[in-house]
Amino acid sequence: MSTPDHLYRFIFEHENVRGEIAHLDDAYQAVLARGDYPPVLQRLLGQAMAAAALLASTIKFRGSLIMQVQGDGPLTLLVAQATSRGGLRALARWEGELDEQADVGELCRNGRLVITIDPDNGERYQGVVPLERGTLAGALDFYFLTSEQLPTRVWLTADGTRAAGMLVQRLPGESGDKDAWNRAEKLAETITDDELLQLSAPEIIHRLYHEEDIRLFDPSPFHFQCGCSRDKVARVLISLGYEEMQDVLQEKGEVEVACDFCNESYRYDSVDIEQLFADDSASPPVPETRH
Ligand SMILES: [Zn+2]
Repeated sequence: MSTPDHLYRFIFEHENVRGEIAHLDDAYQAVLARGDYPPVLQRLLGQAMAAAALLASTIKFRGSLIMQVQGDGPLTLLVAQATSRGGLRALARWEGELDEQADVGELCRNGRLVITIDPDNGERYQGVVPLERGTLAGALDFYFLTSEQLPTRVWLTADGTRAAGMLVQRLPGESGDKDAWNRAEKLAETITDDELLQLSAPEIIHRLYHEEDIRLFDPSPFHFQCGCSRDKVARVLISLGYEEMQDVLQEKGEVEVACDFCNESYRYDSVDIEQLFADDSASPPVPETRH
């Protein structure tokens, strides 16, 4: 019996090898419930969420990690975000029919994977890798090698109900056993998608590494969470400008914005809009002419 939506970290004692295993149920289903996704995208969203959870857990500071696949279609956007506090959200956009057997590299012409690390305090960092290796996991292996110079292997799988991911990484520095990384990688390669989905993290570690000296840490939880708020939407509206808001008010009677991630709807009537722009001292002065 395992708790849903958690990530386990582990290390090889006395060796420069670490790993993570993530399992997502509720957060994954919360994302699928908010979009009418074809099965191939349901699986890709799960893989992307598991990947975001794995990557966010490698960050040492508070903030969020955004994984974004962009391309020329038919899959035009796949984005998953994980925060250091365990919040997860994701969405995909596509056009037309999708080949159910295709992987992300085929669904996304000229596709690239953009990884953004966004600390609460500090500079954003962005890394971009091509999707030419065909899979999200392959693109992530390449990302770690080029951006972080850390040999890393990632496995991702999802079946529409549950998503799972595993990462093993060689850390900098020398260790006593020169073959440790090689063994960690080769043994991890024997994991099947079914095992990764169905076995608990302690069971997976036993299955792969029962002859190794492994330290397994307490799991950290993940949950569905959208970072949207009335304040953040207001800032977007202010950036669009007073005139633009007046045009929408005139046409529709109110300004309504729905969050793509969680479907939450934010409404502003003419009084709300006046207040937004009056409160916003940084914005340009309100024009004299009003409709
Ligand atoms: Zn939202």
